[in-house]
Amino acid sequence: MPAADVVHSADPNSPEALDALRHSTAHVMAQAVQELFPGTKITIGPAIENGFYYDFDSPHRFTEEDFPKIEKRMLQIAEGNHDFVGREVSYEESKKYWAARGESYKLELLEGFKDQKLTHYSHGTFTDLCRGGHTPNTRAIRHFKLLSVAGAYWRGDEKNPMLQRLYATAWPTKPQLVEHLKQLEEAKKRDHRKLGPALGLFSIQELAGPGLIFWHPKGGRVRMIMEDWLKGEALKRGYQMVFTPHIANLDLWNTSGHTGFYRQNMFGAIEVEKADYQLKPMNCPGHILIYKSALRSYKDLPLRLAELGTVYRYERSGVLHGLLRVRGFTQDDAHIFCTPDQIEAEVEGCVDFALTVFKTYGFEKYAMEVSTWDPEKTGDYSGEAEEWERATKALEGVLSRRGIPYKLIKGEAAFYGPKIDMKLIDAIGRPWQLSTVQFDFNLPKKFDLEFVGSDGARHRPLMVHRALYGSIERFFGILVEHYAGAFPLWLAPVQAKILTITEAEVPPAEALKKTLEAAGLRVELDARSERIQHKIREATLEKVPYMVVLGPKDVAAGTLAVRRRDGKQIFGVRPEDFVERLSEEAARKATAPSWE
Ligand SMILES: [Zn+2]
Ligand SMILES: [Zn+2]
Repeated sequence: MPAADVVHSADPNSPEALDALRHSTAHVMAQAVQELFPGTKITIGPAIENGFYYDFDSPHRFTEEDFPKIEKRMLQIAEGNHDFVGREVSYEESKKYWAARGESYKLELLEGFKDQKLTHYSHGTFTDLCRGGHTPNTRAIRHFKLLSVAGAYWRGDEKNPMLQRLYATAWPTKPQLVEHLKQLEEAKKRDHRKLGPALGLFSIQELAGPGLIFWHPKGGRVRMIMEDWLKGEALKRGYQMVFTPHIANLDLWNTSGHTGFYRQNMFGAIEVEKADYQLKPMNCPGHILIYKSALRSYKDLPLRLAELGTVYRYERSGVLHGLLRVRGFTQDDAHIFCTPDQIEAEVEGCVDFALTVFKTYGFEKYAMEVSTWDPEKTGDYSGEAEEWERATKALEGVLSRRGIPYKLIKGEAAFYGPKIDMKLIDAIGRPWQLSTVQFDFNLPKKFDLEFVGSDGARHRPLMVHRALYGSIERFFGILVEHYAGAFPLWLAPVQAKILTITEAEVPPAEALKKTLEAAGLRVELDARSERIQHKIREATLEKVPYMVVLGPKDVAAGTLAVRRRDGKQIFGVRPEDFVERLSEEAARKATAPSWE
């Protein structure tokens, strides 16, 4: 890899300058750690989104208690005012340098870079083997913080030794650091891995294995609403629902090519009567078989096949993360088979559907990217130049026409076709990759798909994969964090909770529950002989949108004392008004309480 020079950027917040600052801070952290914990070996320390990490092999077991000491030493080093100096070195020279220091990981890295230009970057007394991209001087390094420590396999391979990864963040200014730490703090409070079990939404069970999700009744209720709404929208938009098996003969996956290019993410084959079967990692081949089950005419197209399809992917245990990275999940998957003339309209339909999803769930901000091939390396891709151009033009055309800003990224597409990736921005400003509209020039060829054109000849249809939620598990996790567990009324597993003050209110409370349920509301009754303050506190923790506190006076007056989950109270409400207000708020899918 070519050595980049020190990054001189007029804008300290440009992506290059931020990466340089963070990676340089990683050097300083490595030095501090080696000084404070003798016997620690260094490996790699790249910049990542919003920060950086460094992987160490150390006899010391790092804990958060080490962080202040490391940070203090880092600051001292940075204040030493050292320039980052890059120097090209020969393989022999570099090898001698790292061997003398017993840096076995650097020696291993060196073997991989043998035929490349090698650079050593130094500040003060510390040197690292790296590609460059640093701040000019350690002076720029002031506003950083160590965040966490985690295990990480050397080179991400579970056969290699387990290293200790120190995560940290660094920013050009103090206010930026403070703001980022505040966001992290807020993110911690919203962590779906904590809120999920606390709110009775889902769990991961040790006995069943990691990365497998158990949806509990309340989470199951939300999921059902999410699925029903999506299916209803899909039907309105001309999709047809299909169901395909979770397991299929390996021959299918050989034909699709997944056993080649997707092998890494597939579980092993299962023997069934001397044949090999495969858990499905994707729904596409199943939908293709449905397409192929009949001779299709141009009049049948576009054919939009949709499935809430559960797939199984072999994710390494190290990357599993709550609902965000799992081993079994359900995609709101669809495949559109169409003629070349129809692609603009089909892409438009997908983008429109995705925007409806974003709006419905209360996401106002989003970012879009179009990924296409690298025109210099057409040999790496499936499909003809003309197909790539037309499809990329269709993707860009739809976004431009709708006035949606997007980034065009060349060389980022999968080998089989260009795509639009849609990221939404959540309530605390974090981006999440969600929907994808992806062309595929490969599978129609592999399965020899055809349709009879208006000219009576056979043609190959175009195929588009599209998922809007992406994975229902993952999207649900994002929603939990976006709403901080306080689902809007239309999604809330329990919409109202009736709390009795004394024993005497239990019969009228039961009658009220029946009335509300008859109106289609999801209601719970807390008739325990606990103090009312305690009941209110519990319902608040459960994030139930509306509470009805039923006491003797209300029963006598035939009215309700309503309490919103944010604490606002509304007194003297007639039951029929309560039903009407809640029904209206839910029907509108309001994302904030509409009842003042
Ligand atoms: Zn470096
Ligand atoms: Zn697909």
